[in-house]
Amino acid sequence: MNEQIEQIDKEYVLHTYSRNYVNFKKGINATLFDENDKDYIDFTSGIAVCSVGHGNKRVADKIYEQILNITHISNLYAIEPQAKLAKKLKELCGYDIRTFFANSGAEANEGAIKIARKYGETKFENKRYKVITLEHSFHGRTITTVKATGQSSMHTPNFAPYPDGFSYHNKIDDIYNAIDNETVAVMIELVQGEGGVQPFDKKEIQELAKFLKENDILLIIDEVQTGVYRTGEFLAANLYEIEPDIVTLAKGLGGGVPIGAIMTTLKDIFSPGDHGSTFGGNYLVTTAALEVLDILEEVKDSGALAETIIYFNKKLNEIYENHREIFTDNVGLGLMRGLRVKDADTLALVIKTAFEHGVLVLKAGKNTLRLLPALTISKEEMNEGFKRLENALDKIKQD
Ligand SMILES: *Cc1c(COP(=O)(O)O)cnc(C)c1O
Repeated sequence: MNEQIEQIDKEYVLHTYSRNYVNFKKGINATLFDENDKDYIDFTSGIAVCSVGHGNKRVADKIYEQILNITHISNLYAIEPQAKLAKKLKELCGYDIRTFFANSGAEANEGAIKIARKYGETKFENKRYKVITLEHSFHGRTITTVKATGQSSMHTPNFAPYPDGFSYHNKIDDIYNAIDNETVAVMIELVQGEGGVQPFDKKEIQELAKFLKENDILLIIDEVQTGVYRTGEFLAANLYEIEPDIVTLAKGLGGGVPIGAIMTTLKDIFSPGDHGSTFGGNYLVTTAALEVLDILEEVKDSGALAETIIYFNKKLNEIYENHREIFTDNVGLGLMRGLRVKDADTLALVIKTAFEHGVLVLKAGKNTLRLLPALTISKEEMNEGFKRLENALDKIKQD
């Protein structure tokens, strides 16, 4: 890699990530090329963001056409693609919702919590403000969403004090006992992403949803990672056949442009002035998202997505079965997949060796190898990527 870029990065960018120093120059669907034209099969899609692949021409053309006219005008004026995107989201999820557009997952969750807090303030005699979350969850990096995240290692004293009203619990069953008369909402992922690609049981979730509805407690589903067809349906909530009060989206929605969304059935919860965002839902990002959704709707309706999911999981399962000396479990839903690795050191070695063999994979939790390919990944790319992964694992076995 161009040494100079590494030096500049280290000198001028805050060190919040332990970066890989590779300089990607070009991407075509699920294939990336570095500055030496070496190609990599991308099983990460920028952490579930590049849902329609890299260098998507349809999205690029729409963005170009839009920004030649207007990129941004602020939310003080109506924004045509934003209005259309909100309508589209309602149609695709099938719930009776309105949407607020934010710029990231954390920001969407932050807004969801504001909705819950206002609901808790205005709807009951006593203020309800407590939000229950789960262990191994991930909800973002702002002070509030980091506190909502159920990983104590993230609640470091460095950033204290945190906002009150958050508690996290080991499993779905524990939520019932944690509820008191100040509880306003339960916020969960249906497949915990960062926590280790852990899907919850459908029945258990349906029972929880029913209980919460009966008790007037909001159900917030964080679909920042699971949303936008990642699990095979538009929302994981559609797959689980539940009707949440609030759903948040981000990662895959814009195909790479920063966009977040808070969708809620509490259609009149906010009044002008309650919430806002300068950039949220501007022409650039909502135009991109509209095209991303058009593409993905076609991919889904043509049956291509279901075929890709089946093929990807078949190939992944072969790898899993061939390398039980490394892998202990095969987990996930749709194109959100994980293989549990026997220990964290081996996982680090797998990711590094895979990279050297030209395939990009991710880590989740302590010991999960995570795969989040573009939803448009081709059969050739899957074949090539799994061949390279197999070679990497063989190499590890030999050493
Ligand atoms: C990535 C993620 C977030 C945070 O999104 P950002 O865009 O990084 O703020 C929140 N929740 C879940 C489930 C995520 O996977």
